[in-house]
Amino acid sequence: MGARKGSQYLDGLDREPREIWLGAEKITRDVSKHPKFRAVAKSIAHLYDMQHDPELVEEMTYVSPTSGERVGLSFLQPKNAEDLRKRGVMMKHWADYSGGMLGRTPDYLNGDLMAMASAHEFFDTSARRFGENLRRYYEYIRENDLCLTHTLIHPQANRSVGPSKQADPFLAARVASKNDEGVVIRGARMLATLPLADEILVFPSTVIRGTPEDMPYAFAFGIPCSSRGLKFICRESFAEESRFDHPLASRFDEQDAVVIFDDVLVPWERVFLLEDVERANTLQEVSGGIVHMSHQVIIKNIAKTEFMLGITSLIADTIGITEFQHVQEKIAKIIMMLESMRAFLRASEADAKLNRWGIMTPDFKPLNAARNLYPRLFPQLRTIIQQLSASGLMALPTEEGMNNREIRPAIDNYYQAKNTSSEERIRLFHLAWDIAGSSFGSRQELYERFFFGDPVRMASALYNWYDKEPYKQRIREFLHRED
Ligand SMILES: Cc1cc2nc3c(=O)[nH]c(=O)nc-3n(C[C@H](O)[C@H](O)[C@H](O)COP(=O)(O)OP(=O)(O)OC[C@H]3O[C@@H](n4cnc5c(N)ncnc54)[C@H](O)[C@@H]3O)c2cc1C
Repeated sequence: MGARKGSQYLDGLDREPREIWLGAEKITRDVSKHPKFRAVAKSIAHLYDMQHDPELVEEMTYVSPTSGERVGLSFLQPKNAEDLRKRGVMMKHWADYSGGMLGRTPDYLNGDLMAMASAHEFFDTSARRFGENLRRYYEYIRENDLCLTHTLIHPQANRSVGPSKQADPFLAARVASKNDEGVVIRGARMLATLPLADEILVFPSTVIRGTPEDMPYAFAFGIPCSSRGLKFICRESFAEESRFDHPLASRFDEQDAVVIFDDVLVPWERVFLLEDVERANTLQEVSGGIVHMSHQVIIKNIAKTEFMLGITSLIADTIGITEFQHVQEKIAKIIMMLESMRAFLRASEADAKLNRWGIMTPDFKPLNAARNLYPRLFPQLRTIIQQLSASGLMALPTEEGMNNREIRPAIDNYYQAKNTSSEERIRLFHLAWDIAGSSFGSRQELYERFFFGDPVRMASALYNWYDKEPYKQRIREFLHRED
């Protein structure tokens, strides 16, 4: 098939029945037409259509080494610096489409899958060729251009003990049984963003202890979202109808769902790792998956910061506050964040090396710093919009008000701005509210804080991983230097 068009993604979503719960509503068919999902489905479809835009096709796709068809460039296994650059260009096009507000454009997990499949030998065991399963799965996803979601985290019941010590050992998804056909999984995982995917990857993330009781929680597989027994329980939808009132929530509410495995059969050919604590705890690092995900994330974050810089700069122009020093300082802070992220990206690409699987892999040090830093920076961006906009975020007639002939003349008069019409000003401030104040915007902040993991434990991991010895040694020497 090769790179899909948007209509093919939408048809694929609607073809297979699945089980999505939104409040009390059980949605099984035509999910892409549902009022709360159709807008984000359309946005994802647009991403796929970009692959066929004559002006972008060369930058969005490449020729498959197996089928000769053009396939999505985020599947490219980079072998040199130019390949890595091409991956970056492709990912930036997708990130720019939503101003970085879609966290789960398909390239995020395509990069992870690409890296893991490149390291497929790591997954083979003496008993089973799980690595071969992974390699074939990657090719299947690439050639059919399927969209992936994923879930890594056990339910948040009692974090002071591991999954095997919870009140119910089947609370966290685990192996319930095995048979000739495959492995049966029972329990729950949180949290899968974009339940409107074709397939779900289920991987371990938190460290699993090597005790016999913890073994059933160590697995990795990929199955269709339409698999029997799989349920997605969504949060309240933030999707809104009016583009005017909610320019972001009306397009990009990608949803987040808890995933229930109600005795889901995972066929053997879809199992990539089973009851193998050692591989489970090291797979992302050994495969380089974490690095390629971080590469996508920093590009998305650059797009997002550019979008926020545009909003804040336009607000300052619109209401005539550009000359105030604290306004300049706040916008300058965004410029510092943006240029820092660009520098991290550039450093990671400049120092890229072939990893042991022959894949050109960005240097993880700057990417690791960036993925730890951005969760701490992003909330400040929302705060700056609030500080610059003040009551402008509340002086917001709705689309209905704008269309009312009686009140419209007053709106046109009293909502005017320094250098733009009242309508342009109101549009801009609705956008500002959608990121700085609305439910959609609050979820963006929570997303940036947590989607890559708990920032506290991520910082600990960075602390433990980073080689600090040369700097300690320098200080030891300095303490005894006699000059
Ligand atoms: C909007 C959003 C989208 C997401 N999308 C996805 C997705 O698509 N796929 C996916 O797999 N995951 C996703 N996640 C989940 C994300 O991976 C987790 O939020 C993250 O790993 C933190 O886990 P948690 O939310 O269970 O927090 P918890 O681990 O429950 O942490 C809660 C609090 O307890 C503290 N804490 C807990 N345990 C410890 C400990 N051992 N040591 C120190 N402090 C501790 C934490 O620091 C934190 O303050 C998403 C999260 C959000 C918010």
